Parts: sequence; C-alpha cells; structure tokens
Amino acid sequence: MTRRRSGEGIGTALRRRQAAATWGPVLGVVAGGVLLASAARPAVQENPRPPTAADAAPAAKGFNLLLVSIDTLRADHLGCYGYFRDTSPTLDALAKEAVLFRECHSPLARTTPTHASLLTALYPIEHGLTDNITHERNQLVLADPVLTYAEVARQARYRTAAFVSAAPVKRDTGLNAGFEVWDEPDASQRSADETNDPFLRWLSAAAEGPPFFVWLHYFDPHTPYRPPADYADRFQTDDKLRAYLRERRFAVEASKQHSDGPIEDAKSWNTEEAINRYDAEIRFVDDQLGRVFAMLKAAGAWDRTVIVVTSDHGEGLGQHDWPNHGGYWQEQLHVPLIVRVPGTEARQVRTILSTVDILPTVLGMTDRLPKGELPSQASGRNVLVGQGESPSAYAQTPGDRGSTIRTLTTPRWRYIHRPGRGDLLFDRLADPHELNDLSSKHPDVIGAMRDELSKQVERQSGRKARYGATRAPARKERVNELRELGYIDDEDPDAVEEDEP
Ligand SMILES: [Zn+2]
Repeated sequence: MTRRRSGEGIGTALRRRQAAATWGPVLGVVAGGVLLASAARPAVQENPRPPTAADAAPAAKGFNLLLVSIDTLRADHLGCYGYFRDTSPTLDALAKEAVLFRECHSPLARTTPTHASLLTALYPIEHGLTDNITHERNQLVLADPVLTYAEVARQARYRTAAFVSAAPVKRDTGLNAGFEVWDEPDASQRSADETNDPFLRWLSAAAEGPPFFVWLHYFDPHTPYRPPADYADRFQTDDKLRAYLRERRFAVEASKQHSDGPIEDAKSWNTEEAINRYDAEIRFVDDQLGRVFAMLKAAGAWDRTVIVVTSDHGEGLGQHDWPNHGGYWQEQLHVPLIVRVPGTEARQVRTILSTVDILPTVLGMTDRLPKGELPSQASGRNVLVGQGESPSAYAQTPGDRGSTIRTLTTPRWRYIHRPGRGDLLFDRLADPHELNDLSSKHPDVIGAMRDELSKQVERQSGRKARYGATRAPARKERVNELRELGYIDDEDPDAVEEDEP
C-alpha cells in the first residue's frame, strides 16, 4: 500500500513536487517569480531570484557538491576498478585524489528507484519507488514527507541544479524536489554532450559565488549502445576480451527471457560487439566528464568542490545470460563510487556499502556540506565510522507473479532469496563471478542470511508508512518514452511489477 497526504489528492501531491523545481524555493515559500524558459532551452527552468549577499552568508564556507550518476555503469568496466581497457582516464585520475569505495552496491538495479535512494538515503521499500513504473501503468512519485538532499541544500541557501538525461528520472518522478534549476531532455534521452551544454553554461556563471549542489545524470552506457561515430571503433575484440568473457562464462548470445532491454537488441545480441560498444559509450562519458572537471579547475572552483561519481546499477552484458539489468546478479548491482573531498587523502575502502549509504558517508567526510535533517531521515549510515554492525548490502528486484527477489551481500557471501525458485548462495572470496551455487552445502549460512534479510525488510517496511510514494496514472508521454528505452516490454507481463507485496 502507498499513502498520500491526508486531505490531499494524488494530483495535488504531484503538483507540489513539480512546483518545487518550477518555482524555486521550497519549504512552502512562495517565490512569486515567473517561469523563465528560453526558446533555445525549453527544458530549463530557472529560479528568477538571483542569489543575494544574505543568501551567501550562511553557506560562505561551504563546499560545492557535484553528484554525478552515470547510468548503467558496472564498476568492473573502469580502469580504477581493474578493467583492462582504457575506458576511464578521467575517472582514474579522479580516483588518485579521492576515496574509492570498492564495494558499493545498488539496492535495486533499476533507474528511478535507485536514484530516489541516492537522493534521500532511503531504501526503495521506504520511499516507495520500487520500480520505474507499475504494470498498471501507474506513476510512482516521491511523496512530500520525504526529504531530498536538494531540499537540504536549498534550506542551507545553496544554489541547487539538476541536469538529467533520460525519462526514468524526469520531473514527474518527484526527484526534482528542491532543485531550483531543473534541466531535462524533451525526448526520452539525450547524450552526455547534450546534457553538458546547458550544465556548462550554467556552471560558467555559477562557479563563482555561493556554493552549489548539482546533480548531473548521464545515460549513455544504457541500451541501446550507440556511441558517437568517432568513438564507435575505439575498442575491438581481442584476446583480453575473450579471456574476460571466458573467466566469467558470458553467454555469446543472451536469451530473450531475461531481457528488460529493447527486444530487437536481445534477438540480435552479440556479446563481444555489445561490450565493445558499451565500453565506447563509457569512454565518451568519461571524456565529457573531463570537460566538466576542466571547467571547474579553470574557474578556480576545483578546491572547493566535493565530487561524487557513482551509478544507479550495473549491466549484465550477457553475463549470467542476462543482457541488460533489473536483476539480482552482482554485475548488475555492483557500482562504482568515487568520492573526492578537497584536502582528504586518497585511499581505497573495502567496506561494503549501499547506495543509501552514499550521502551519509559523504556528509560524514566533511563539515563543509550542509546536513540539515537528512541524518534523522537516513536509513543509510556513514560507513567510515562505527565498527559495531557487520556490513552487508541489501537489494531487491521484482520477481514472478508479484513476488520480490531479495539479496544480501556480505564480505564473504552473496545470498539470493527467490520465492518459488529456490535460494542461491555464492562464496564471494572463492567464486567472485558467482558461478557455483553453494546453497545446498551451507544450510546454516542460508538460515542466518534469511534471518538477517527478514530483519532488514521488517525495519524498512516499518518506515514505509511514513515516507511511501504516492501514485498517479503515468503520463502517456512517459509510458511511450519508457517503452522507447526498453523499460516496458509489452510482450512480457512480468517486465514491470505492481508494488512491494
Ligand atoms: Zn539506470
């Protein structure tokens, strides 16, 4: 079940969320401004009130925060995570002056839910966005009681702006709450350079002045893999790729039944070719991120900007016979996390964490970012302090017939609970690619993992009533855009699920 504010219809709640970005200041303050949408950039909505000296005062010592999510980026395809190809020189250089978290896991390998978790530090069960869209074509919308980090930053008089690249994170999800500037594509998606254009224009004016919080979302590595022409031949199949595929037992042709991507892609799937193009898309995004970092440096803002780079989920690419994402295998859940805080020494952290832990951890790394009320809302924790709890990462995904598949990742084990299909257990140390199911050999481990999973689900479910999403019939445009991106497969009734059972 989901809730809505008492005395308020779903439409009203949706409008409240949309108004946050349209009119700027939140917290119920009426801006009284006008919508500025230039003809050249119809998607950009700017707060008409420029920052004043009074705005700047409380945040004068604050760092900027640039939060970058590169959609569909599996961690092991980046050089700094050990990949054999030169896909990520910009991120590799960033990692040399950052804290690189080796074990960050998505709580749900789908775009809208995990971005909601990233911005709120809540699990999908708690904020209620448990899928991109429901099978009844309902739109799940972040509810008003949920605090987003953009709202926290706005309360601290930061300038807040988001530049996003695809339909699953457009403003009708409520993810726009707290952003005074919101820039999204008119179409279902756009490329990183098209997202950079408005962002870099904004940044050239904003680099000086009061601090900002920016969410920058790129979508290029998502299917279909169509890198720009000058990148298309960047990577060719060679012995190193073949060895990589062999070691992980990739399918040469992934079966359609696991695809949540465009069906025509799955039917003509060629793993080697798909990976060559996927890697080219990553390299393109990495180069585009290089443009952003160059501008921050040129503007003198580099030393007062915290940079966080992560992804919402990984990608199957044919591993475990699964071309895209949305499932429960580690390659779909394991995401990069690079956190660069000026003045903080570079290092690598192996503690397991979830996307919900990202903001609490980053905010714990510096006192120069506003925290507001986020710590009291967050389910996520600062994983750099406190050794009391044994670390684990929870994840879930819709299963068959309205069920939910849940997983738990610990330093040693990966446990996958599949109602009606049997549990799976993998020894991560001996079998990092999850090839040998040990569930029948370790009933004791299965029992302990199942108990821990139940506890976590119970804890999250208990908070759902407070925060859970509202829902409204999805806009026709959204349904069409999601279908275009492969999020809706009309041939497969299980491709999108209703809600948390
Ligand atoms: Zn995504």
